[in-house]
Amino acid sequence: MSGTSTRPGLMRGIGIGRGTAVGPVLRMPDPVPDPSDRPSALAPAEEQARATEALVATAAQLRERGQAAGGTAAEVLDALAMMAEDPALAADVQHRTEDGATAEFAIHAAMTTFRELLAGMGGYLGERAGDLDDVARRAIARLQGLPAPGIPESATPFVLVARDLAPADTATLDLDRVLALITTDGGPTSHTAILAREKGITAIVGASDAAGLVDGDLVLVDAENGAVELEPAQERIDLARQRTATLQAIRAASTGPGRLADGRAVPLLANIGSPESAREAAARGAEGVGLFRTEVLFLGAEKAPSVDEQAATYRDVFAQFPDQKVVVRVLDAGADKPLAFLTDQGEENPALGRRGLRALAAHEEVLRDQLTALATAAASSEAHVQVMAPMVSTAAEAQYFRDLAHELGIAVAGVMVEVPSCAIMADHVAANADFMSIGTNDLTQYVFAADRLLGTVSAFQDPWHPAVLRLIEQVGRAGAEHDVPVGICGEAAADPRLAVVLVGLGATSLSMSSTSIADVRAELALRTFAEATELAALALGADSAESARAAVADRIATWPPPVL
Ligand code: PEP
Ligand code: MG
Repeated sequence: MSGTSTRPGLMRGIGIGRGTAVGPVLRMPDPVPDPSDRPSALAPAEEQARATEALVATAAQLRERGQAAGGTAAEVLDALAMMAEDPALAADVQHRTEDGATAEFAIHAAMTTFRELLAGMGGYLGERAGDLDDVARRAIARLQGLPAPGIPESATPFVLVARDLAPADTATLDLDRVLALITTDGGPTSHTAILAREKGITAIVGASDAAGLVDGDLVLVDAENGAVELEPAQERIDLARQRTATLQAIRAASTGPGRLADGRAVPLLANIGSPESAREAAARGAEGVGLFRTEVLFLGAEKAPSVDEQAATYRDVFAQFPDQKVVVRVLDAGADKPLAFLTDQGEENPALGRRGLRALAAHEEVLRDQLTALATAAASSEAHVQVMAPMVSTAAEAQYFRDLAHELGIAVAGVMVEVPSCAIMADHVAANADFMSIGTNDLTQYVFAADRLLGTVSAFQDPWHPAVLRLIEQVGRAGAEHDVPVGICGEAAADPRLAVVLVGLGATSLSMSSTSIADVRAELALRTFAEATELAALALGADSAESARAAVADRIATWPPPVL
């Protein structure tokens, strides 16, 4: 791509977090397409030589990367290199080239066979099956003269620009190198965005104009304003740095449990997806966990994990929160988080398909195993463990889940309210749940019929919209009437001003990526409950997300500014 002058100087997207960053762009290469099975025009010996060279070079590259990275990454990459050098694989590739396949297709087909073999073995080897795809794609990219897939390498820090990132890529981003992340696709609640928030990466998602950025472009990434500036002036850079410093001062001044200015407690809990993020959340002062996304642990697994395997991981997480609440969500498989052992293949609209509790009820043995593992781990821990079910759409489902959880030894069982029918029937749902936790990400997606992963409709994915707030208010009211706590665990809780509005709508606790806790704590401390209620009424009465935001900002501007 060329012609900087024709590209916009200012690109807009949805900012994640409040950070800013300045640096040169590096683009993530596009995925390598699967090779076709057309017969080779070359002699088998030539194809064989191409395949051998590609596999040997891929192994060498992986080792080199591993040595440069050190630690666990070195072990992981060395294991991948050994896969590329496997003699049985080489023999299979040779056999296929002798039969007339291209080197690309021979590697692709041989790796696929091996992957299925490994997956069938289950356990640790089964979990590594997906790694073979990575090795195959690297070798095929080399054969086709394409850049190696995955995060690009650079000795100097850079701003990563990608269409979207796989969860594994986001999770392994090297924060010393990646200054910020820009995706052209994806919405604010895509899992890329959630992981970015969890890791505290300055990110802009759904910035479709950023598709025109090329390697080496200097950009200013301003997450708070959802803006990417191309070739920014020095004073813009200075201003951004000043803002970052002010923000850091506000965060440093905010400590202790979450409470409003009048002393009313609003526990600030963390959204986590692994024992590692649990440790980070505890270190950042989370008062417990409001959403433990257990499916994240098993995204690559081909088979359902055993009870013992699960219990060990849950114990590790619970140990971080003695005497505190840990709300575990049972596996939320489907749509953007398919699990091979739970998700139906080939649904045309997986977000509307058999996902969440629907998939678990269809495979009740998986749900029973998970609840048993959780009860076992909870029994030997000091955490106050509660469970909740994702994608509940009726009061009958809430009752089914609570009965099963109680039967298997878990005393507190609630539901996520993220399907509009569940919010609309909240009074009946509340009668069948020990607590409710509103998932604003899916709730917004379903209220607007706008795929949360799709950049082209990401403008709809705005929880400030009164259409969403009215449902939240209804759930808050039902919770108060039935004396059932109402938490918020969608990304909306991480937006400091919206967090105040949510408390005014009846939320009794807020759960978010732990990197957002300090900002939310600081904002809550400025407002009384009466003020939160007033702001909530203003937002509810607006006719759009923009006017709800503006009404709240205008009212806050009439109150005295915070004293730092
Ligand atoms: C939600 O939908 O708001 C939620 C918290 O769950 P997830 O983002 O994992 O779907
Ligand atoms: Mg959800």
